[in-house]
Amino acid sequence: MDPIAYVNGTFVPLSEAKISILDRGFLFADGIYEVSAVLDGKLVDNDSHLARLARSVGEIALPLPETIERIKEIQKELIARNELANGLVYLEVTRGADKGRDFAFPKGVKPTLVMFTSVKDIVDAPSAKTGIAVITVPDIRWARRDIKSVALLAQVLAKQAAAEAGAGEAWMIEDGKVTEGGSSSAFILTQDDVIVTRQNGSEILPGCTRKAVVALAAERQLRVEERPFSIEEALAAKEAFITSASSFVQAVTSIDGKLVADGKPGSMTNRLREIYIDFARATAG
Ligand code: PLP
Repeated sequence: MDPIAYVNGTFVPLSEAKISILDRGFLFADGIYEVSAVLDGKLVDNDSHLARLARSVGEIALPLPETIERIKEIQKELIARNELANGLVYLEVTRGADKGRDFAFPKGVKPTLVMFTSVKDIVDAPSAKTGIAVITVPDIRWARRDIKSVALLAQVLAKQAAAEAGAGEAWMIEDGKVTEGGSSSAFILTQDDVIVTRQNGSEILPGCTRKAVVALAAERQLRVEERPFSIEEALAAKEAFITSASSFVQAVTSIDGKLVADGKPGSMTNRLREIYIDFARATAG
């Protein structure tokens, strides 16, 4: 079956979904995106993703072409039309297509809104059992990483380097500290059982899964510290892991070819993964 996509008000077969070459998302990366997980046909922690969407578009003065409530309805209709049980819904909004290529914001141009789905079994992903390798790369991104912009070239290069090294993610390094993964938040568990992840700020994207995991851990009286950490600290840690909508909680078993602890997913990581999956199932809608 040809999957169904959404483009500016209509549902169309993905192979026929098109936007203009003058679209500012294409010309300038002048757009924002979000990715929400789908479990058993329901959206996971989607209000958090849509709140971040509203914040991101606000930061670049991009008006949403539909209300958040309508966007939610479109997401749900797309899931239904694709009969999607487990996977992801991608959505992107751009400043639309003007008549030419002027940098300044166009006047009277309707923003573009597109969505598509992909199938992914996040709960039973093989890497959840084995963990993943990560490599490190310099963080060469712009200074407003808190905005979920579609300008992802630095992450494309980082994740390509990871793929070439046989790794599942790249951890980006700035001033000797890990900022985050190419498409995930980075965590360690110290030898004295403190869960450490970098505090939110313009240096990282405020991950929705990160936020939920930090809250779920705190509710269970687990110790959490939000501060930067170095690769040396990660290699001396008990455990390391990443979080994202597309992986939930995922163990990191080596960094630049050096094992984290015994090179197997740790018990805290496995526990947080189970806690998150329970939360996701209980709250999906
Ligand atoms: N950090 C970056 C740079 C990302 O691109 C992503 C997800 O795409 C994340 C963190 C994780 O965010 P979330 O948990 O909201 O998926």
